[in-house]
Amino acid sequence: MIEDVPVPYFFNSIDWNQLINDYQPAPTFFKDHYLLPADDIKKIQTSKLSKCLQHAWSTEFYKSRWQNNGIQDVTKINSLEDHKKLPTYVVDDLRKSIAEKPPFGTYQGVAFKDTKDIGPIRIHTSGGTTGQPRPTLYTVQDRQVGSLLRARAFYLAGFRPGDAVQNTLLYSTHNGPFIVDEALYDWLGCIPVTTSAGIVTRSVRQIEIMKEWQVTGLVGFQDYLIQLARTAKEMGIDLKKDLHLKNISTMGGNPRLVEKEWDGINALENYGMHETQVMAAECPEKAGMHLWEDAFIFDIVDIESGESLPDGKIGSLVVTALYKTGVPVVRYDTKDTTRVLSREKCACGSSLTRIDFLQGRADTMVKLRGVNVWPEACGDVAKNDARVSNEYFCFADRINDRDQMTLMIELKEPKSNQSEKEVKESVTEMLRTKLSVSINVAVYNPGELQKFTKFGIESKPRRFEDRRKK
Ligand SMILES: [Zn+2]
Repeated sequence: MIEDVPVPYFFNSIDWNQLINDYQPAPTFFKDHYLLPADDIKKIQTSKLSKCLQHAWSTEFYKSRWQNNGIQDVTKINSLEDHKKLPTYVVDDLRKSIAEKPPFGTYQGVAFKDTKDIGPIRIHTSGGTTGQPRPTLYTVQDRQVGSLLRARAFYLAGFRPGDAVQNTLLYSTHNGPFIVDEALYDWLGCIPVTTSAGIVTRSVRQIEIMKEWQVTGLVGFQDYLIQLARTAKEMGIDLKKDLHLKNISTMGGNPRLVEKEWDGINALENYGMHETQVMAAECPEKAGMHLWEDAFIFDIVDIESGESLPDGKIGSLVVTALYKTGVPVVRYDTKDTTRVLSREKCACGSSLTRIDFLQGRADTMVKLRGVNVWPEACGDVAKNDARVSNEYFCFADRINDRDQMTLMIELKEPKSNQSEKEVKESVTEMLRTKLSVSINVAVYNPGELQKFTKFGIESKPRRFEDRRKK
């Protein structure tokens, strides 16, 4: 006899109509909630708040933190103003929770054994640029809303049903590649082309597949997308004539740099992380990234004091994810830095708040003579010199009680005494002009920085080391 165990089928595990009513997918979203005035968006946020907070309260992680802040009855927190008084937490708090109660900590909200009641669960991790990747459990609802939110960003970027979209994120335990895959397949009718990163499908083969399979969309981190464009050109490919590529969805920087390398092919940025999924995306007006305020509550706070900042000031993004039924995310201080660009209605018709591209991580920010400097910004400046490759690495150290930053860059061609001197002078000058502070520049030969950046080896390249504490 074969044992008779009921299986919690995926397709039976949630109320799908409720899901798309609460979190509209593309294209419905762009005709409805995307166009609502700010007051109506606030009503939507408020209506979802209580359930979100009560779920968080059911975990030891949140309950103990909130109780320590004097909160005894979570049902009394019903307004956006009250929600703002809840304490924030940072990634180190999650790491501590995992260390105290391995392997998943006390914040997951669900456990493997719950599948029989709530349906299948997935486990994925962060990209792991800083420290050990953190595991996160996802319910069907979290997975589906998460991929739907990403699909909205892809829709804005121009991906349409029937498009073959090449996914260059490294398929591993990392959440990123899978949520991209699910967004394309489940919520857009696109055909995911699962090349993964360069370590799985080398860059030359990526370009061959792009050409042969008539790929029209491309997804990836900025740095790898730039490398791919350069590879294609080295292969003698005319990016606009020989390929079918129409649109690129970028992550991790400034999409205008990607557009430039891809000879003007449309590239739009989006922003997310594995605990929340995509939270913001650029619209075709290219005037900032719209926040998905129907699914999240946002606050931008001062990096040091944690106080809310006025619009326009750069600070750390604090987020509450309203849709989560697995790992709750309430007042998570992401340490990703950005600023509000505008709350005015955009030319695209949306009044959803627009934020700037990420400036870098608050924990990699170095304060040099009163100026905030991020490794990512230094790398972007260096890329303006055509002789410099896409690779860079920064470190901060302290000499004679003075903090300083050194930018290590790599040349495309092996260096000579002359080229080393010229590039060093040119990049040093550009850094001084653009960042208003002086930064040391060290010039390396092609391939020499990989041992620092782990580019192509880890899912996201490393860009910074703080040597001041050693
Ligand atoms: Zn817009």
